[in-house]
Amino acid sequence: MGPPGAGKGTQAQFIASHLSVPKISTGDIFRANVSGGTELGRQAKQYMDRGDLVPDEITIAMVRDRLSEDDARHGFLLDGFPRNVPQAQTLKKMLDAEWGAKLDLVLELVVDEDEVVRRLSGRRTCSQCGKIWHVDWDDKKDDICDECGGRLFQRDDDREDVVRHRLEVYQEQTAPLVSFYADEGILVGIDATGPVEEVTERALEAIRRFRG
Ligand SMILES: [Zn+2]
Repeated sequence: MGPPGAGKGTQAQFIASHLSVPKISTGDIFRANVSGGTELGRQAKQYMDRGDLVPDEITIAMVRDRLSEDDARHGFLLDGFPRNVPQAQTLKKMLDAEWGAKLDLVLELVVDEDEVVRRLSGRRTCSQCGKIWHVDWDDKKDDICDECGGRLFQRDDDREDVVRHRLEVYQEQTAPLVSFYADEGILVGIDATGPVEEVTERALEAIRRFRG
């Protein structure tokens, strides 16, 4: 778990490859079902085409199908799921009923809000090649892409007020989920500030400690 801008997808990728387990994200599962033309994919697409959220039952059925695949038999890392307490409760029941399994650990990437705002609101996207630059880290003084000469712009999603709003929404929706997993005794918070490799190392250290 982690707020937008915490580097969740990147960390999930590194941790999963380090543990030799598949990284299972709802985004990937949706795309696979839709492009594979499955019944669940067809249903999900109807909601997505209307701009509606895909209902929990469909999401959970897709997750169950994905967890049934061979590569997940010895473990998996979920990214972006569950998103709310009802999904977490259903996941818990499903793991137990289908496989007599349970989640071992929930990692929460903890970041300072101002740091997330600085990370995201400093991003500039090239209008020609799509490369993303950062005003501080890449020391961008001009609005020109060093790769292709294209003009850089700030995506709406990266505007400071939009980022602050997304963080508020995340805190509201996620606070109950944090309590849920804290009550289950499997929540570990990781400081997610600083270089990507250091954060990965902290996460792996937490997993090693947990495994004893
Ligand atoms: Zn460019």
